[in-house]
Amino acid sequence: MPQNGPEVLGPTPRDPSQLYWDPDAQTMDPEARRELQDRRLRQLLAKIFEIPVPLFERKLRAAGIENPEDVKGVEDISAIPLTVKQDLRDSEAAIPPWGDYRFTDPHRAVRLGTSTGTTGTPTITLWTRHDLWIEYESAARTWWRYGHRPGMIVTHAHPAYLYGGGAMLSGAYEYFGFLNIWVPPPDTDELAEQGLRFWTRVKPDIPFMGFSTGRFFEVAAKLGIDPLDAGLEFKGLPGFGLGKGMPLMTAGAECYAYVGGACGQAPGAHVCEDWAIVQAVDPETGREVPDGEWGNLVVTTLDRDNGLLRYDLEEACAVLREPCPCGETTMRALWGGRFKDLISTQGKRFQASELESALRSVPGVSEPTLEWQLVRPRPGEEDRPLQVRVERGASASTGDDGGAGAGDLAKQCVGAVREALGIEADVKILPRESIPRSGYKAARVVDE
Ligand SMILES: [Zn+2]
Repeated sequence: MPQNGPEVLGPTPRDPSQLYWDPDAQTMDPEARRELQDRRLRQLLAKIFEIPVPLFERKLRAAGIENPEDVKGVEDISAIPLTVKQDLRDSEAAIPPWGDYRFTDPHRAVRLGTSTGTTGTPTITLWTRHDLWIEYESAARTWWRYGHRPGMIVTHAHPAYLYGGGAMLSGAYEYFGFLNIWVPPPDTDELAEQGLRFWTRVKPDIPFMGFSTGRFFEVAAKLGIDPLDAGLEFKGLPGFGLGKGMPLMTAGAECYAYVGGACGQAPGAHVCEDWAIVQAVDPETGREVPDGEWGNLVVTTLDRDNGLLRYDLEEACAVLREPCPCGETTMRALWGGRFKDLISTQGKRFQASELESALRSVPGVSEPTLEWQLVRPRPGEEDRPLQVRVERGASASTGDDGGAGAGDLAKQCVGAVREALGIEADVKILPRESIPRSGYKAARVVDE
């Protein structure tokens, strides 16, 4: 195998009929895998003291760990304090631009990305070639599980430039051997049209699926493009909340973009345990909650050039360790949403997506897409009806000034929300296109 030829850009070809992308890793004996995790964890801690990595060294010393031999393995890490996003933000602010939590010289990295920065200054993530390879291999396990194979045409509309997600996804697609069509995020109708027109020329084998799927449907309807001609099939994004959960697919680009993948045997997603210790943790005690219960998603990345130790994503996670019928031997994990996205009103807590599922049951507001917003209840106002805005559907009776049908639609929405969530809402029906559109994740929860 040449060490500097084009072959090193991609993985060794697989037999398309084999069950797993990486059988050795995915069906490894769990005890052997635990030993691998223990060894890789000790290597991580050794690097923290040797390099050193001051932020994590402080965390270790706070737990009374003065040298890496104090930790034998995964069993011992509950004592290590958690690190949250704000710690990284503070570190970068105190010692700009990189902070004091890097394991490698930034000049050894080949890619940089910033977080979306919806709250506070975005933090910077760095990947070396080795870090990217771990992400690409992890993603490949998932796509292979789905039945996708190299040679298929795939498409996405992730944001680019400083936000690292789009480059990461494109890189992972190309590494796997997909033909990758990267269209612009549909921020405007013109940009959405570019993507739609291209898909009618080169139709992807795997239909577009993303946060902005609804945008493409909306613009296709305006342009008179049949979504099927553009390879679009609307499956909708699954509703999920703390009660139900969905497979844990990602721990964010800043931590582990492709930490898990669903095998089709519900529930949960198989976790790449050879490259991460994923825990559902009670943040009060730092200890893992019992299997199947919700805790904070805490991830320790293994074998990376840029690692994170006990990183608390402030999102809900539950882990399941029963053997999976698919034959993979890794644990599975469920994701229950971000805690900061939890809405608290009238004594109930729920995810915005649960409200969205309720509204989706009202046909008059969900065609061609459901467009809505809610105003986050301010402290002291949690007992008032939740303020919700919903656009009328394109096919609902239009009554020029929002008149005739609006009252009925509002009543139907109020009823759907009451039934699904047990809360009172004050629903305003708005004309089509009153709520701002987004090419990526629409802002559904607004602070006013
Ligand atoms: Zn499985």
